[in-house]
Amino acid sequence: MGLLMQKLILFLALPVLLAVTPALAQTGKIALAIHGGAGMILKENMSPALEKQYRDKLSEALQAGYKVLKAGGTSLDAISAVIVILEESPLFNAGKGAVLTNEGRAELDAAIMDGKTGLAGAVAGLTTVKNPILLARQVMEHSPHVMMIGGGAEKFARERGLEMVDNAYFRTDTREQQLKKIQEKEKKAAPDSQDKGAAPLAPRPDDDKFGTVGAVALDQFGNLAAGTSTGGMTNKRYGRVGDVPIIGAGTYARNETCAVSCTGHGEFFIRQVVAYDVAALMAYKGLSLQAATEEVVNQKLKQIGGEGGLIAIDQQGNIAMPFNSAGMYRGYIRDDGSWKVMIYGNE
Ligand code: ASP
Repeated sequence: MGLLMQKLILFLALPVLLAVTPALAQTGKIALAIHGGAGMILKENMSPALEKQYRDKLSEALQAGYKVLKAGGTSLDAISAVIVILEESPLFNAGKGAVLTNEGRAELDAAIMDGKTGLAGAVAGLTTVKNPILLARQVMEHSPHVMMIGGGAEKFARERGLEMVDNAYFRTDTREQQLKKIQEKEKKAAPDSQDKGAAPLAPRPDDDKFGTVGAVALDQFGNLAAGTSTGGMTNKRYGRVGDVPIIGAGTYARNETCAVSCTGHGEFFIRQVVAYDVAALMAYKGLSLQAATEEVVNQKLKQIGGEGGLIAIDQQGNIAMPFNSAGMYRGYIRDDGSWKVMIYGNE
């Protein structure tokens, strides 16, 4: 083939080569991390049977998300599949089994964010939507808004055909007992303050096994996504909304940096803008995912007394899951299918 011919072929092929270049920049790797809440989770307080239930449910959720990713599904589909499973399990503080408010009902918050487009959907104060994460996704994909709350959000859920349930569906005996215990404790500590609302920085009750749920994923197209769902905090009052549905506080995702889902004492996570702070440290300071998450959870949050943890993933499929509480229900699965579910410090 003459030189001229070679040059001509290269010239003709150039647009094709340029068109596929962005795809080549992606690793094609998939990865997924999930959490089921952080808090005072100690092995000595857990029966082997209950521990098994947690491990089994986390494994089931991980495998379901991995299946979606492996089949070529998007990170948004994978995290939705994971979170629906955890919301429908009474073990976690999200959907069925959510903690109860001061008035004894479940009020749910959730958020989802698409790392590719930067679009996000969030919902708060839901009392009758079976799967809050699915409504957050509807807000993102089928409304011009980012956040919808209470009755309006529920009206939108009905319009979008989501499954609605009575608030009693969410309540479990365990959560009713937890609420009773906390309210009795509170009454004892300050007998007159029962009707005056919570102190602004009331500590997280340490006999509570929180259990907010979340997931972050990388799909084979190189796109990240994050989602989180919660019942908030036991005995919360008067329309309290935590960090979970606040984009940048409890939930955040951008392809350029990372996807993050948090769990812990929400008031601290909101004031510290935790999820976005991880992304900002990566973008502005050039920190790795590991270094950024460590700095936020084990330094910045700790300094202000913020208890909890987070899961995070980047476009290379790196995963970080730091927490500064006793334990965090968590798990990950990597591209090659290797996976792990953990509850305490290192197991
Ligand atoms: N972050 C949640 C909230 O404050 C609670 C939790 O993760 O345990 O609403």
